[in-house]
Amino acid sequence: MSSPCLFCRIIRKEIPASIVYEDEHVLAFNDINPQAPMHVLVIPKRHIDSLNALGPGDDAIVGEVVRRGAAIAREKGFADRGFRTVFNTNAEAGQTVFHIHLHVLAGRGLTWPPG
Ligand code: AMP
Ligand code: ZN
Repeated sequence: MSSPCLFCRIIRKEIPASIVYEDEHVLAFNDINPQAPMHVLVIPKRHIDSLNALGPGDDAIVGEVVRRGAAIAREKGFADRGFRTVFNTNAEAGQTVFHIHLHVLAGRGLTWPPG
């Protein structure tokens, strides 16, 4: 049976998304509720619930996701200005979709510490 996971459904093109990059392993698309002028989500095509579920066999895909996030920020002109990359994990961090996703945010001053 096909996974009901929202992001797996986006990967299968059952739900539309504004895709900014796609290859065999990785998909990137604009967040539906952007928190900055650029707000892209980068996800592995293989379902992983959260950072808590990572094993040694996932090192390569995590590297691809992070490197792709940086490449997208560079392509959009934010490499020098700066950009923020975030993985939220579980409730107190605000994770709402349980398929690993890297938030890539840029285009405004981002405060620290985060909320
Ligand atoms: P998180 O709260 O870290 O789990 O992030 C989930 C993100 O997914 C939020 O920023 C949502 O705005 C975003 N999101 C939810 N549904 C969609 C969708 N259909 N297309 C694009 N982004 C989505
Ligand atoms: Zn999934």
